[in-house]
Amino acid sequence: MGRDASRFIDVKLVALQTREARSRDGGDRANTLTPSSLPFKAFSESQLAQIPQLNSLSDEQRFVMQVVAKVLPFRVNRHVIDELIDWQNIPDDPIFQLSFPQRGMLSDSHFDRMASLLRRNGSKAEIKALATDIRAELNPHPAGQQEDNVPQLDGAPLAGMQHKYDETVLFFPSQGQTCHSYCTFCFRWAQFVGDKALKFASSEAWQLGAYLRRNRQVSDVLITGGDPMVMKTKTFASYVDALLEPGLEHIQNIRIGTKALTFWPQRFVTDRDADDLLRLFERVMASGKQLAFMAHLNHWRELEPEMCRRAISRIRNTGAVIRAQAPLLRHINDNAETWTTLWRKELGLGIVPYYMFVERDTGARRYFEVPLHRAYTIYREAIRHVSGLARTVRGPSMSAGPGKVEIHGITEIAGEKVFALRFIQARNTDWVQRPFFARYDENATWLNHLEPAFGEKRFFFQDA
Ligand SMILES: *Cc1c(COP(=O)(O)O)cnc(C)c1O
Ligand code: SF4
Repeated sequence: MGRDASRFIDVKLVALQTREARSRDGGDRANTLTPSSLPFKAFSESQLAQIPQLNSLSDEQRFVMQVVAKVLPFRVNRHVIDELIDWQNIPDDPIFQLSFPQRGMLSDSHFDRMASLLRRNGSKAEIKALATDIRAELNPHPAGQQEDNVPQLDGAPLAGMQHKYDETVLFFPSQGQTCHSYCTFCFRWAQFVGDKALKFASSEAWQLGAYLRRNRQVSDVLITGGDPMVMKTKTFASYVDALLEPGLEHIQNIRIGTKALTFWPQRFVTDRDADDLLRLFERVMASGKQLAFMAHLNHWRELEPEMCRRAISRIRNTGAVIRAQAPLLRHINDNAETWTTLWRKELGLGIVPYYMFVERDTGARRYFEVPLHRAYTIYREAIRHVSGLARTVRGPSMSAGPGKVEIHGITEIAGEKVFALRFIQARNTDWVQRPFFARYDENATWLNHLEPAFGEKRFFFQDA
């Protein structure tokens, strides 16, 4: 079927859904018939060839994508393709870099092994085996996350949960272990490639409730994934409603970590159960708890589409507060101007800038990593040019084993050039906000590359 024919059918479908929606809620839901209100459609690695915009690339460029997508997870939806990527600016476009496989994301040897297997038409089984080998050599779970932070109930580990910082429990609902589109930098990729042993997952809302009832120091539950907004509202609501039950009064903040605000804003506007989702947000707010919407926003261009603007205003109208966080990534947002613009636009849309992260030690790290001194300089340059209202953003922050470590400054003390660091969050609450110093290192990209300053043997949080 030609592209035009398929679009024609989709438009008819939308017209039908639009009529339905209007008769239900008086028309706020889907009142314009634009391509952006088409139903959800995503392309996976085996469907790369069906993405019309890729036709303008060379055979070699497409082959490179195929090779990389055999190893790293690939999934992109029509909103990202049609509304976010500037196809006149390939391959430099930041959203293209954020969602499509690039040559440099694999090392030469990994790339060559997969490329030669594809060139000699290796079997499906051979390709799969090689992909598994290569993935094992990448680092799917940095900072001992998987082993270290799984809480227990009566001695049994609670899969699908992580509890690292006293006040916040992370919850990974098993139906939320995918995303509307995958980000090429994402450290959660092991969850997407079907490796059951690596999956954090739980289908047990009651386990979460039982654990929280016994842990009254917890004030926040962060529902994450993958992306929990891929769940149908009905499924998602079963988890959230369980948190509104008696005995959980100490749970003050229900946080949702999601990229759907910009990668599938239709989730909050035109999807069939969008309205039900907003009613759920209202229900949380009416219960006296806060619905904290943690949006992952890498680049200000994500905020431009009209559909996204509508999603933001609909979410804010429920009383929920939207906060934004993202890693700093080479090829995507590694300059101060991009961050200044991002924070200004967030502020203009009523979104609170929250965290700037340092890309962590995993997967395609080499491609995205930025030295710590540059990360700090970009943060500092960017924040100088925004209103104090946007200076709520903290960073650049490394989520490492001991905690979230912020690069607070680069300075010279007693003749030694040092990084000034501090814990924003720590495994041990006594460490929080304690300043410490590391010898300046131009090449360091992560906490484990740093040595204590002033000739000390270890950092204060390290065991003797
Ligand atoms: C970042 C993070 C949190 C939340 O920390 P806040 O500073 O409260 O946003 C909770 N748990 C883990 C494991 C985290 O990495
Ligand atoms: S949406 Fe979030 S979890 Fe999903 S791929 Fe992107 S960063 Fe990773």
